[in-house]
Amino acid sequence: MATKNKNSNKKIAVVGAGLVGGLEACYLAKRGYEVHLYEYRGDIRAMEHVPGRSINLAMSIRGRTGLKAVGLEEKIIQEHGIPMRARMIHDLDGSTRAIPYNKDGKCIYSVGRRYVNEVLLSKAEEFPNVHIHFNHKLTGVDLDNANMTFLDTVSNEEVKASADLVIGCDGAYSNVRKQMLKRNWFNYSQQYIEHAYMELCIPPTPDGEILDCIMSQKHNADSSDAKKRKAIIVEVKL
Ligand SMILES: Cc1cc2nc3c(=O)[nH]c(=O)nc-3n(C[C@H](O)[C@H](O)[C@H](O)COP(=O)(O)OP(=O)(O)OC[C@H]3O[C@@H](n4cnc5c(N)ncnc54)[C@H](O)[C@@H]3O)c2cc1C
Repeated sequence: MATKNKNSNKKIAVVGAGLVGGLEACYLAKRGYEVHLYEYRGDIRAMEHVPGRSINLAMSIRGRTGLKAVGLEEKIIQEHGIPMRARMIHDLDGSTRAIPYNKDGKCIYSVGRRYVNEVLLSKAEEFPNVHIHFNHKLTGVDLDNANMTFLDTVSNEEVKASADLVIGCDGAYSNVRKQMLKRNWFNYSQQYIEHAYMELCIPPTPDGEILDCIMSQKHNADSSDAKKRKAIIVEVKL
Protein backbone atom coordinates (compact mmCIF):
# COMPACT_ATOMS: atom_id res chain seq x y z
CA MET A 1 0.00 0.00 0.00
CA ALA A 2 2.66 2.51 1.05
CA THR A 3 5.45 2.79 -1.47
CA LYS A 4 9.10 3.44 -0.72
CA ASN A 5 9.71 7.11 -1.18
CA LYS A 6 11.79 9.94 0.24
CA ASN A 7 9.70 9.86 3.43
CA SER A 8 10.25 6.19 4.20
CA ASN A 9 13.37 6.82 6.28
CA LYS A 10 11.56 9.35 8.48
CA LYS A 11 10.06 8.01 11.66
CA ILE A 12 7.02 9.77 13.09
CA ALA A 13 5.58 9.06 16.54
CA VAL A 14 1.86 9.67 16.93
CA VAL A 15 0.85 9.71 20.61
CA GLY A 16 -2.76 8.67 21.18
CA ALA A 17 -4.73 6.27 19.00
CA GLY A 18 -8.12 7.89 19.40
CA LEU A 19 -10.10 9.35 16.52
CA VAL A 20 -7.47 11.88 15.55
CA GLY A 21 -4.41 9.66 16.11
CA GLY A 22 -5.87 6.75 14.13
CA LEU A 23 -6.70 8.95 11.17
CA GLU A 24 -3.41 10.83 11.38
CA ALA A 25 -1.49 7.54 11.26
CA CYS A 26 -3.31 6.58 8.04
CA TYR A 27 -2.56 9.94 6.41
CA LEU A 28 1.13 9.76 7.31
CA ALA A 29 1.39 6.14 6.21
CA LYS A 30 -0.08 7.03 2.82
CA ARG A 31 2.76 9.52 2.43
CA GLY A 32 5.24 6.75 3.11
CA TYR A 33 6.44 7.68 6.60
CA GLU A 34 7.35 5.06 9.15
CA VAL A 35 4.66 5.62 11.74
CA HIS A 36 4.67 4.51 15.37
CA LEU A 37 1.29 4.92 17.03
CA TYR A 38 1.39 4.82 20.85
CA GLU A 39 -1.79 4.31 22.84
CA TYR A 40 -2.36 4.38 26.59
CA ARG A 41 -5.29 1.96 26.50
CA GLY A 42 -5.19 -1.63 25.31
CA ASP A 43 -6.63 -2.57 21.93
CA ILE A 44 -10.26 -1.44 22.17
CA ARG A 45 -11.21 -3.98 19.49
CA ALA A 46 -10.59 -6.72 22.02
CA MET A 47 -12.37 -5.06 24.93
CA GLU A 48 -15.84 -5.77 26.18
CA HIS A 49 -16.19 -2.36 27.74
CA VAL A 50 -14.17 0.64 26.55
CA PRO A 51 -13.37 3.16 29.27
CA GLY A 52 -14.06 6.82 28.54
CA ARG A 53 -16.76 8.57 26.54
CA SER A 54 -19.26 6.45 24.67
CA ILE A 55 -21.67 9.10 23.40
CA ASN A 56 -22.26 8.78 19.66
CA LEU A 57 -20.61 11.21 17.29
CA ALA A 58 -22.71 13.49 15.13
CA MET A 59 -20.77 13.35 11.89
CA SER A 60 -21.01 16.18 9.42
CA ILE A 61 -19.20 16.90 6.17
CA ARG A 62 -16.03 17.82 8.08
CA GLY A 63 -15.57 14.36 9.58
CA ARG A 64 -16.71 12.64 6.38
CA THR A 65 -14.13 14.51 4.33
CA GLY A 66 -11.38 13.31 6.66
CA LEU A 67 -12.54 9.71 6.36
CA LYS A 68 -13.02 9.90 2.60
CA ALA A 69 -9.31 10.53 2.03
CA VAL A 70 -8.51 7.14 3.55
CA GLY A 71 -11.40 5.36 1.82
CA LEU A 72 -13.59 4.96 4.92
CA GLU A 73 -16.44 7.40 4.37
CA GLU A 74 -18.76 4.97 2.56
CA LYS A 75 -18.14 2.15 5.00
CA ILE A 76 -18.85 4.25 8.07
CA ILE A 77 -21.78 6.30 6.77
CA GLN A 78 -23.55 3.72 4.60
CA GLU A 79 -23.09 0.69 6.82
CA HIS A 80 -23.30 2.31 10.19
CA GLY A 81 -24.61 5.90 10.11
CA ILE A 82 -28.04 6.77 11.48
CA PRO A 83 -29.38 9.87 9.69
CA MET A 84 -30.22 12.73 12.04
CA ARG A 85 -32.35 15.36 10.33
CA ALA A 86 -33.29 17.53 13.28
CA ARG A 87 -32.61 18.16 16.93
CA MET A 88 -35.62 17.68 19.18
CA ILE A 89 -35.99 20.32 21.85
CA HIS A 90 -37.89 19.27 24.97
CA ASP A 91 -39.21 22.33 26.76
CA LEU A 92 -39.83 22.37 30.49
CA ASP A 93 -43.60 22.50 29.93
CA GLY A 94 -43.39 19.14 28.14
CA SER A 95 -43.83 20.52 24.64
CA THR A 96 -41.42 19.54 21.89
CA ARG A 97 -40.18 21.19 18.72
CA ALA A 98 -37.70 20.05 16.13
CA ILE A 99 -34.91 22.23 14.75
CA PRO A 100 -33.72 20.85 11.38
CA TYR A 101 -29.98 20.65 10.80
CA ASN A 102 -30.33 21.73 7.18
CA LYS A 103 -33.06 23.51 5.26
CA ASP A 104 -32.43 21.50 2.06
CA GLY A 105 -33.19 18.18 3.73
CA LYS A 106 -29.54 17.17 4.11
CA CYS A 107 -28.59 15.55 7.38
CA ILE A 108 -25.78 14.64 9.70
CA TYR A 109 -25.16 11.07 10.83
CA SER A 110 -24.93 9.51 14.24
CA VAL A 111 -22.08 7.01 14.39
CA GLY A 112 -20.68 5.02 17.27
CA ARG A 113 -17.47 6.53 18.63
CA ARG A 114 -16.02 3.12 19.42
CA TYR A 115 -16.91 1.80 15.97
CA VAL A 116 -15.17 4.69 14.17
CA ASN A 117 -12.11 4.30 16.40
CA GLU A 118 -11.97 0.56 15.71
CA VAL A 119 -12.31 1.00 11.96
CA LEU A 120 -9.53 3.59 12.00
CA LEU A 121 -7.22 1.28 13.95
CA SER A 122 -7.87 -1.57 11.54
CA LYS A 123 -7.26 0.72 8.59
CA ALA A 124 -3.98 1.97 10.09
CA GLU A 125 -2.89 -1.62 10.66
CA GLU A 126 -3.30 -2.39 6.96
CA PHE A 127 -0.28 -0.22 6.22
CA PRO A 128 2.97 -2.15 6.64
CA ASN A 129 4.66 1.07 7.72
CA VAL A 130 2.35 1.60 10.74
CA HIS A 131 3.34 0.02 14.06
CA ILE A 132 0.81 0.24 16.87
CA HIS A 133 1.95 0.07 20.49
CA PHE A 134 -0.97 -0.42 22.85
CA ASN A 135 -0.70 -0.07 26.64
CA HIS A 136 1.92 2.64 26.23
CA LYS A 137 1.26 5.70 28.36
CA LEU A 138 3.41 8.69 27.48
CA THR A 139 4.96 9.99 30.68
CA GLY A 140 7.56 12.37 29.28
CA VAL A 141 8.81 13.81 26.03
CA ASP A 142 11.84 15.84 25.05
CA LEU A 143 10.36 17.72 22.11
CA ASP A 144 13.67 19.17 20.87
CA ASN A 145 15.11 15.72 20.31
CA ALA A 146 11.84 13.80 19.89
CA ASN A 147 12.75 11.40 22.70
CA MET A 148 9.83 9.87 24.53
CA THR A 149 9.31 7.93 27.73
CA PHE A 150 6.37 5.58 28.14
CA LEU A 151 5.03 3.41 30.88
CA ASP A 152 4.18 -0.04 29.59
CA THR A 153 1.00 -0.50 31.59
CA VAL A 154 1.12 -4.30 31.27
CA SER A 155 4.70 -4.97 32.37
CA ASN A 156 4.88 -1.76 34.45
CA GLU A 157 8.25 -1.05 32.88
CA GLU A 158 9.58 2.20 31.50
CA VAL A 159 10.06 2.23 27.73
CA LYS A 160 12.21 4.74 25.86
CA ALA A 161 11.62 5.56 22.19
CA SER A 162 12.73 8.20 19.72
CA ALA A 163 11.54 9.52 16.39
CA ASP A 164 12.16 12.36 13.94
CA LEU A 165 8.88 14.01 14.86
CA VAL A 166 6.34 13.63 17.66
CA ILE A 167 2.68 14.44 17.01
CA GLY A 168 0.44 14.75 20.05
CA CYS A 169 -3.03 13.27 19.51
CA ASP A 170 -3.55 12.41 23.14
CA GLY A 171 -6.81 14.20 23.67
CA ALA A 172 -8.17 16.87 25.95
CA TYR A 173 -5.66 16.25 28.78
CA SER A 174 -2.74 15.89 26.39
CA ASN A 175 0.59 15.09 27.97
CA VAL A 176 2.40 16.27 24.82
CA ARG A 177 0.69 19.65 25.19
CA LYS A 178 1.76 19.78 28.85
CA GLN A 179 5.37 19.48 27.72
CA MET A 180 4.86 22.16 25.07
CA LEU A 181 3.60 24.54 27.75
CA LYS A 182 7.04 24.46 29.35
CA ARG A 183 8.53 26.06 26.24
CA ASN A 184 8.67 29.73 25.35
CA TRP A 185 6.03 31.40 23.21
CA PHE A 186 3.44 28.77 23.78
CA ASN A 187 0.09 30.14 24.81
CA TYR A 188 -2.77 28.07 26.10
CA SER A 189 -6.08 28.67 27.80
CA GLN A 190 -8.94 26.45 28.77
CA GLN A 191 -12.48 27.41 29.68
CA TYR A 192 -15.29 25.24 30.92
CA ILE A 193 -18.82 26.01 29.77
CA GLU A 194 -21.50 26.00 32.44
CA HIS A 195 -23.53 23.25 30.81
CA ALA A 196 -23.32 19.56 31.42
CA TYR A 197 -24.65 16.60 29.52
CA MET A 198 -26.24 13.34 30.37
CA GLU A 199 -26.15 10.25 28.23
CA LEU A 200 -29.25 8.08 28.35
CA CYS A 201 -29.70 4.75 26.67
CA ILE A 202 -33.34 3.89 26.10
CA PRO A 203 -33.57 0.48 24.47
CA PRO A 204 -36.59 -0.64 22.42
CA THR A 205 -39.36 -2.59 24.19
CA PRO A 206 -39.17 -6.41 24.02
CA ASP A 207 -41.52 -6.13 20.98
CA GLY A 208 -39.02 -3.90 19.23
CA GLU A 209 -41.06 -0.75 19.74
CA ILE A 210 -39.08 2.45 19.99
CA LEU A 211 -40.04 4.56 22.96
CA ASP A 212 -40.43 8.30 22.88
CA CYS A 213 -38.15 9.99 25.32
CA ILE A 214 -39.99 12.34 27.63
CA MET A 215 -38.02 14.58 29.92
CA SER A 216 -40.66 15.60 32.46
CA GLN A 217 -40.60 18.75 34.50
CA LYS A 218 -40.65 16.60 37.63
CA HIS A 219 -37.51 14.79 36.57
CA ASN A 220 -35.68 18.05 36.13
CA ALA A 221 -36.90 19.45 39.45
CA ASP A 222 -35.96 16.30 41.34
CA SER A 223 -32.44 16.06 39.99
CA SER A 224 -30.05 17.03 42.76
CA ASP A 225 -27.87 19.03 40.41
CA ALA A 226 -30.71 20.33 38.24
CA LYS A 227 -29.79 23.91 38.90
CA LYS A 228 -26.31 23.41 37.58
CA ARG A 229 -27.54 21.51 34.58
CA LYS A 230 -28.93 24.11 32.21
CA ALA A 231 -29.13 21.88 29.18
CA ILE A 232 -29.57 18.19 28.89
CA ILE A 233 -28.73 16.49 25.65
CA VAL A 234 -30.67 13.31 25.29
CA GLU A 235 -29.26 10.70 23.03
CA VAL A 236 -31.32 7.65 22.21
CA LYS A 237 -29.29 4.67 21.06
CA LEU A 238 -31.19 1.88 19.34
C1 LIG B 1 -19.75 14.88 25.12
C2 LIG B 1 -19.00 15.07 23.84
C3 LIG B 1 -19.68 14.93 22.64
C4 LIG B 1 -19.01 15.10 21.43
N1 LIG B 1 -19.71 14.96 20.28
C5 LIG B 1 -19.09 15.13 19.10
C6 LIG B 1 -19.82 14.97 17.90
O1 LIG B 1 -21.00 14.69 17.91
N2 LIG B 1 -19.16 15.14 16.71
C7 LIG B 1 -17.83 15.46 16.69
O2 LIG B 1 -17.26 15.60 15.60
N3 LIG B 1 -17.11 15.61 17.84
C8 LIG B 1 -17.71 15.47 19.02
N4 LIG B 1 -17.01 15.63 20.17
C9 LIG B 1 -15.60 15.98 20.07
C10 LIG B 1 -14.77 14.71 19.83
O3 LIG B 1 -15.04 13.78 20.85
C11 LIG B 1 -13.32 15.07 19.88
O4 LIG B 1 -13.07 16.09 18.93
C12 LIG B 1 -12.47 13.87 19.53
O5 LIG B 1 -12.70 12.81 20.42
C13 LIG B 1 -11.04 14.26 19.62
O6 LIG B 1 -10.29 13.13 19.24
P1 LIG B 1 -8.86 12.90 19.80
O7 LIG B 1 -8.32 11.70 19.11
O8 LIG B 1 -8.10 14.18 19.75
O9 LIG B 1 -9.06 12.62 21.36
P2 LIG B 1 -9.62 11.32 22.05
O10 LIG B 1 -10.73 10.74 21.28
O11 LIG B 1 -9.86 11.70 23.47
O12 LIG B 1 -8.37 10.31 21.98
C14 LIG B 1 -7.19 10.55 22.68
C15 LIG B 1 -6.45 9.22 22.77
O13 LIG B 1 -5.18 9.45 23.39
C16 LIG B 1 -4.97 8.47 24.37
N5 LIG B 1 -4.08 9.05 25.39
C17 LIG B 1 -4.39 9.98 26.32
N6 LIG B 1 -3.31 10.24 27.07
C18 LIG B 1 -2.30 9.47 26.59
C19 LIG B 1 -0.93 9.29 26.97
N7 LIG B 1 -0.37 9.95 28.01
N8 LIG B 1 -0.18 8.40 26.27
C20 LIG B 1 -0.72 7.71 25.22
N9 LIG B 1 -2.00 7.84 24.82
C21 LIG B 1 -2.78 8.71 25.51
C22 LIG B 1 -6.36 8.15 24.91
O14 LIG B 1 -6.39 6.89 25.52
C23 LIG B 1 -7.19 8.20 23.64
O15 LIG B 1 -7.24 6.97 22.96
C24 LIG B 1 -17.63 15.45 21.40
C25 LIG B 1 -16.94 15.58 22.62
C26 LIG B 1 -17.61 15.40 23.83
C27 LIG B 1 -16.86 15.58 25.13
